[in-house]
Amino acid sequence: MATRLKNLTVFLSIWLLIGASVGSAQKMNNAPALAPDVHSYSNPQAVRATDIALDWTVLFDKKTLQGTATLSVARGNSSDKNAPLILDTRDLTIEKAETSGDGKNFKATAFKLGAADKILGAPLTIELPSGARFVRVYYSTSPNASGLQWLAPEQTAGKKQPFMFSQAQAIHARSFIPIQDSPQVRVTYSARVRTPSNLLAVMSAEGNSQTSRRGGDYTFKMTRAIPPYLIAIAVGDLQFQSLGKRTGVYTEPSMIERSAFELADTEKMVEATEKLFGEYRWGRYDLLVLPPSFPFGGMENPMLTFATPTILAGDKSLVSLVAHELAHSWSGNLVTNATWRDFWLNEGFTTYLERRIIEAVYGAPRREMEATLGRRSLEQEMLGLEDRDEILHVNLDGRDPDEGFTGVPYEKGALFLRYLEETVGREKFDRFVRNYFDAHAFQSITTETFVDYLQKNLIAQNPKVSIANVNEWVEKAGLPKNAPQPKSDAFAQVETQANNWLKNDITASGIRAKDWTTQEWLHFLTKLPTDIGADRLAELDRAFNLTKIGNSEIAFQWLMMSIRNNYAAANTRLEEFLTSIGRRKFVRPLYEELTKTPEGAARAAAIYAKARPGYHPITVASVDTILKWEKR
Ligand SMILES: [Zn+2]
Repeated sequence: MATRLKNLTVFLSIWLLIGASVGSAQKMNNAPALAPDVHSYSNPQAVRATDIALDWTVLFDKKTLQGTATLSVARGNSSDKNAPLILDTRDLTIEKAETSGDGKNFKATAFKLGAADKILGAPLTIELPSGARFVRVYYSTSPNASGLQWLAPEQTAGKKQPFMFSQAQAIHARSFIPIQDSPQVRVTYSARVRTPSNLLAVMSAEGNSQTSRRGGDYTFKMTRAIPPYLIAIAVGDLQFQSLGKRTGVYTEPSMIERSAFELADTEKMVEATEKLFGEYRWGRYDLLVLPPSFPFGGMENPMLTFATPTILAGDKSLVSLVAHELAHSWSGNLVTNATWRDFWLNEGFTTYLERRIIEAVYGAPRREMEATLGRRSLEQEMLGLEDRDEILHVNLDGRDPDEGFTGVPYEKGALFLRYLEETVGREKFDRFVRNYFDAHAFQSITTETFVDYLQKNLIAQNPKVSIANVNEWVEKAGLPKNAPQPKSDAFAQVETQANNWLKNDITASGIRAKDWTTQEWLHFLTKLPTDIGADRLAELDRAFNLTKIGNSEIAFQWLMMSIRNNYAAANTRLEEFLTSIGRRKFVRPLYEELTKTPEGAARAAAIYAKARPGYHPITVASVDTILKWEKR
């Protein structure tokens, strides 16, 4: 395991070698030594990409991106001075490869596409003649690229124009760019994108139109070095609306008003986060609200968060998702996990920061409600997890990182940081977090580097925390005994109401739920016995019309209970929910719950046959596994 000191020594020697061999024009990014990454074939220690210039034509009829990627490359300190460049790819068609010493005159070079692995894709090996500083790959993507989704007009809100968007995390950038697809190989990038002239293209970069100007030829530039999984593009019938001096929202015209209302507090959130954790370093912060098949809640693409429309609850009750994606501008995008086994550094910090932002903007009671729900969902999920998946510093050897992602890096990571805050005091902890971001800005780091920094800059001065405590949190399964227990007074009152109703002291319509927030509803529903029975659900439904509720979080919880209790009145709604929403957090557990009985499994298969063509490849991969779909 690399300590900070060892990292520094290796880093210095790489630096000296590079400085001597290629001069200042081709500096490596300011990265520590590279950690072994089991999810990339690339060889950045020998030859490393530092910038990528993309030139794409977006072909909706072929569901293909076609064009070139031109990589600036620098040799590292490998003893093999003739080492080729090795890139990650998945399902790419490679037409030719060229190299150049000056970036202007390119000559063909030999390349070889290796055998494809199910999880990793195929390595692309490109010969580099001496003096080659630029590599250009001519290629096109597959219609089934795992990182792209192509939507037919019927799958959009407007129903008239097609839509395309990317999702590169964890290892899907390689399905639309030949790239060294490891989060520690940070790159700057630029892009020229040609689209049908009536559509707008946006990217995680500078250059997004704030006037919704069309034309079909767009240019973008990301000048800060980012991990490959943050390169993102979307093309569709998009409109822009400003939310504040550096914030705004893109979405389809029919959703712009609802979106702008729901996201009105975004500028306030940026200001609150800056006050807590230091300057926002990316220029603008815009959001893109996608069609409902987006597989995640949100994706923290820099300068342009991608978000699911399921956060549009009409009452701003689900905007903690915005707080989360915004927090990634510090934890994740600025300081990045070096490999996917360090993913908790991204998500644990971000979940912790998210709740601090919620507290700053909406008050401590709301933070405590969300933290309570977070801890409960973690405890429930851990009942079904193997020990190895309850470890923050998780071992993902031989596994697809998408399947290794559970609530553990998020909620257990956040609890660990809250434990540190409560133990050393908020003032000291906040100073530590701020300095941590400053010290590692625009770097990708490992768990070992973090623990080492923590030891020197927090633990050494605070005898109440020991490195043994830290190791228990980071390297062991389960929750330590000293894990913080969030408490919410509002939830205590909800529980009283639930108990009174269960004891028949009050009727369902006597439950005082009129002013409940989404969080209170979720707490109420998850506090009820799992085998409550269809009759009791019918009582609640008559009083609160829960089967028809538009709030996606409450609807999801309700549908889970309906499946468990054979509440047939919700069957139609379940099918409608599963065929219109592709967010994996909702879709996966619902199918899992259905498969627990033979009748449910049959219903799941019937619904999935209809829903599958509309789902994102990432969601399809998950549900295929649950329903053993490939064997059909
Ligand atoms: Zn996140």
